[in-house]
Amino acid sequence: MDWRTKLLDPTPQARRDYSSLVTPVYRGSTVVFDDQASVTDDWRQDDHGYSYGLYGTPTALELAARIAGIEDAYKSLIVPGGQAAIALIYLAYCPAGSHALVPYSAYGPNKAMAEGLMRGLNVEVEPYDPLIGAGIADLIRDTTTLIWCESPGSVTMEIQDVPAIVTAAHARGVSVALDNTYAAGVMFDAFAHGVDVSMQALTKYVGGHSDLLLGSVSARDSAAFERLGPIYQQLGLAVSPDDCSLALRGLQTLAVRLDTLEKATLEIANWLASQATVETVYHPALPTCPGHENWKRDFKGSTSVFSFVFKDTVSPEQVEAFLNTLEWFKIGLSWGGVNSLAVMYPDLDRPHQDFGGRIVRLNIGLETPQDLIADLARAMRPL
Ligand SMILES: *Cc1c(COP(=O)(O)O)cnc(C)c1O
Repeated sequence: MDWRTKLLDPTPQARRDYSSLVTPVYRGSTVVFDDQASVTDDWRQDDHGYSYGLYGTPTALELAARIAGIEDAYKSLIVPGGQAAIALIYLAYCPAGSHALVPYSAYGPNKAMAEGLMRGLNVEVEPYDPLIGAGIADLIRDTTTLIWCESPGSVTMEIQDVPAIVTAAHARGVSVALDNTYAAGVMFDAFAHGVDVSMQALTKYVGGHSDLLLGSVSARDSAAFERLGPIYQQLGLAVSPDDCSLALRGLQTLAVRLDTLEKATLEIANWLASQATVETVYHPALPTCPGHENWKRDFKGSTSVFSFVFKDTVSPEQVEAFLNTLEWFKIGLSWGGVNSLAVMYPDLDRPHQDFGGRIVRLNIGLETPQDLIADLARAMRPL
């Protein structure tokens, strides 16, 4: 055999029985089949064997199985990010001509997809008050196929009455999807509360270090999984095995990070609530958070993101100066990592609510809380 041919011999030479404590990174697109009769192209690799790296190598499938196990799902799919997870759910649940409901406190790009891509596909996505609870029944139409929940909501942090919404939805045969990113898939048990499909941006707490982008979509039962799978295959939502490996590592420290973050975040939220220039604090564990009673009833704990509103004696320019003065709080959007973040929302779009550019969202990281409080106090001094 020519040396050139030898270079291309795919037959493994080393022993293959290395039993690693951690999940190896399997890179690969092409799968080699035993014989022609075994050739398949099927997203259901759990059941039918591997067919194509596009539907995940063993690294991605291991992550999917872990997420499903932690969330008590039937099965999960791993996708390139939280927004891809949202897109997959919309496209799997909303045929042309259908109607869907999304809380107006939902993640901004979710609403952008509702008004952009989905509207273009002749799907009407109607925003609703996140605190509507059982009243959602009045908004359900014969054409409604999907109700989104996101609890707490993005920025304004409303905790929804998910069980009441599920009851109303299921009475009309409507499926309920939940963006469970805040809860890291663990602080709120989506399936115990009746949700049909739950997604999270693994980018946030599971990744935990601001160095990867991934999402998960978890199905309550095989019916939900079979609805998602073909769309997942048609969209070609491939993920990087390296990112999946990092996410698997993130899972190993998720509990210690969440424990520490919960305590530090509460300490800082309580400190903010006692400041003269702060009007209110929207932290799910504080009674000033809309829907706090739902949090008390349904959640196992709180995490690291919350918002607060300055009193109207503080101008938006002063809020901006406050943010720019912070040292340990970096100005940034994608939370859940080890660093604290702050950002203001000058044009937050909420019907019947105008924060006048005075709402600030914080993400607390793993820095020592006393240093973070000192940072906030220093930046607030001129106010
Ligand atoms: C960040 C986020 C997403 C999107 O996740 P990406 O991985 O950034 O696409 C979706 N939902 C919520 C609530 C988020 O905070």
